[in-house]
Amino acid sequence: MLRIVNLAKQYKTGDRALRGVTFSVGAGEVVGLIGPSGAGKSTLIRCVNRLVEPTSGSIMLGDRDIARIGRGELRRVRRRIGMIFQEYALVERLTVMENVLSGRLGYVPFWRSFSRRFPQTDVDKAFALLERVGLTEHADKRADALSGGQRQRVGIARALEQDPELLLIDEPTASLDPKTSRQIMRLIAEICRERGLPAIINIHDVVLAQMFVDRIIGLRAGEVVFDGPPASLDNDALTSIYGEEDWTQMRQQRDEDEAEEAHALEERMAGLA
Ligand code: ADP
Repeated sequence: MLRIVNLAKQYKTGDRALRGVTFSVGAGEVVGLIGPSGAGKSTLIRCVNRLVEPTSGSIMLGDRDIARIGRGELRRVRRRIGMIFQEYALVERLTVMENVLSGRLGYVPFWRSFSRRFPQTDVDKAFALLERVGLTEHADKRADALSGGQRQRVGIARALEQDPELLLIDEPTASLDPKTSRQIMRLIAEICRERGLPAIINIHDVVLAQMFVDRIIGLRAGEVVFDGPPASLDNDALTSIYGEEDWTQMRQQRDEDEAEEAHALEERMAGLA
């Protein structure tokens, strides 16, 4: 479980990106972080693994306060935080399997990682994860031979290979088409529930967030202005997050997306019958 209390960040420029943010994420809970550009979403995600140094407040992961630990412990804690990025950050010339195994690099001795010799248990785990994300047949392909959706699946498997206690996910679908985006979001949500993993997803697409996350946190100017289930994100809540805009079009899009989802589910069921 992750518990963020009164987190604040003021950059050297004077920008107050976070102004006392408090919320918890429970085991298996997937939280979608939404808000307009400049609201503080990236700053928040980056504070949690201390890529950005918080100004004040605490970030409790279990009984450790990530905001206060020293370098050595931070290295250990970071091993247990899986990051999934929009730009996949795969090593292009390595195979899918090698990319997944690179999730173990924080654990295996340097000479072993250098010679790319990983313990058999790590390899077995990587195979199981590739199966879970639907990439078994692609294990030996080079990362640069994959589609965008497949690459993001590799990113997910690599994060899980770390045995994370927490997933931080930054715009996972920003460069994917709508259908692939839904597949990736569904996969992430299912995996978090299966493994009891808390996750924070920075996601600009409100419609997509509403379809797949358990809870939505809306940030505006560094403050939490909404925290609740997707169903209660009504027009008033959206206005408090984004200001005055016309949400009718967005609602319509969501209805279309849901219809498509329902249709896909029916097809899968028909396939099973
Ligand atoms: P979001 O991810 O929601 O778009 P950010 O966390 O990137 O928001 O930015 C929040 C605020 O902090 C903005 O006002 C932005 O200009 C400022 N900011 C972000 N990164 C830096 C930085 N490295 N230095 C100074 N100000 C920053």
